[in-house]
Amino acid sequence: MAKTPIQDGFETSVKLTHPDRIYWPDDKVSKQDLLDYYALAWQRMKPFVANRPLALLRCPDGIDGPRFFQKHAWKGINPHIEEIADPEDKEAARLLKIEDFDGLAALVQSAALEIHPWGTTIDHWEEPDMIIMDLDPGEDVAWSKVVTAAKEIRERFSRQGLTSFVKTSGGKGLHVVASLKPQANWPQVKDAAEAIAHAMSADSPETYLSVASKAKREGHIFIDYLRNGRGNTAVAPYSTRARKGAAVSMPVSWEELDGRIGPASFTVGNAASRLNRSSADPWADFSKAASPLNL
Ligand code: ATP
Ligand code: MN
Ligand code: MN
Repeated sequence: MAKTPIQDGFETSVKLTHPDRIYWPDDKVSKQDLLDYYALAWQRMKPFVANRPLALLRCPDGIDGPRFFQKHAWKGINPHIEEIADPEDKEAARLLKIEDFDGLAALVQSAALEIHPWGTTIDHWEEPDMIIMDLDPGEDVAWSKVVTAAKEIRERFSRQGLTSFVKTSGGKGLHVVASLKPQANWPQVKDAAEAIAHAMSADSPETYLSVASKAKREGHIFIDYLRNGRGNTAVAPYSTRARKGAAVSMPVSWEELDGRIGPASFTVGNAASRLNRSSADPWADFSKAASPLNL
C-alpha cells in the first residue's frame, strides 16, 4: 500500500517492532500502515474505545495466521494496555482497557486487528451508553433491504425519543447504534433491543428474523440484538476487520447511506481522504444526542 503522510495525525511513544510486517497480505497493509490509519482516525474513534472494557482479536502473523479473541492480559502485554477489575466480579480475571493514543498504538503493536468494546464506559459500568442493533443479512438478501432495515430501526428508535447513528460493519452488514444517557441497566437495555427486533420480525416476517437461527437466515435479515448483554461486545467504530480487504467499520451519515455504500466499502487503503476532511464526522454528536431510555 502506498504510504499516506499523516496530516493532523497523532504521534505515539510506542515503538513498533517490525513496522514493515504485513498484516493483510493481499492488500499489502503493514503494521505501520495500520498505525498511520489509526493516527488519522483516533480523534473520532476515541469516545467509543477509550475507557471501555475491550475484547481484542489478535492475529500475530496477520489475517492468514492463527487468531485469538482475548479479553484478558497476556504475558509481555504492553503497559499502555491496562488491566481493570470487573466491579461485579472482582475475583474474575481482569479485563482490558486503553486510555489514549499510546494505548491504541500498543494494540497495533500487539496485532489486535479488531477492537471490540463493551457498550459502556468504566465510569458507568452498569449503565450502557448505547444500544447496538447488528443487521446480519443472510445469503441472497439485496443490499437495499439492509439499508431499508437500518432506516426502519432508526425510525423505531426515534419514536422512543432516541437518536441513532449508523456504520458499516466492515464485514457483511450494518450496525445501527442509539445514543443513551447512561441510566438504564443492562437487562433493561437488552430488553429494549430485543423488543425492536421482535417487533420488526412480527411486522415483516418475510424479511426479518429475530432469533439466531442460521438455518432460517437465508433470504432474511437477522436483527441481532444480542450485542447488548453485559459482557457482550461489537466491533468499534473505525476498527479494522481481520478479513481480506482490510475493511474498517466506518461511521456514515444517514444521508449518504444508500445502495452505493456497501458493508466493506471503506478500508485502511481508502479511508485517509475521508478522515482528512474535517467536515465528514457523522458521529460527532453521538454523546450530545444521548437520551435516557424510556422505561
Ligand atoms: P458482520 O457484518 O460480518 O456480521 P459483525 O462485526 O457484525 O460483522 P462478527 O464479526 O461475526 O459480526 O461478530 C459478531 C459479534 O461477536 C461481534 O460483535 C464480536 O464482538 C463478537 N465476537 C466475535 N468473535 C468472538 C469470539 N471469538 N468470542 C466471543 N465473541 C466474539
Ligand atoms: Mn453483524
Ligand atoms: Mn451478529
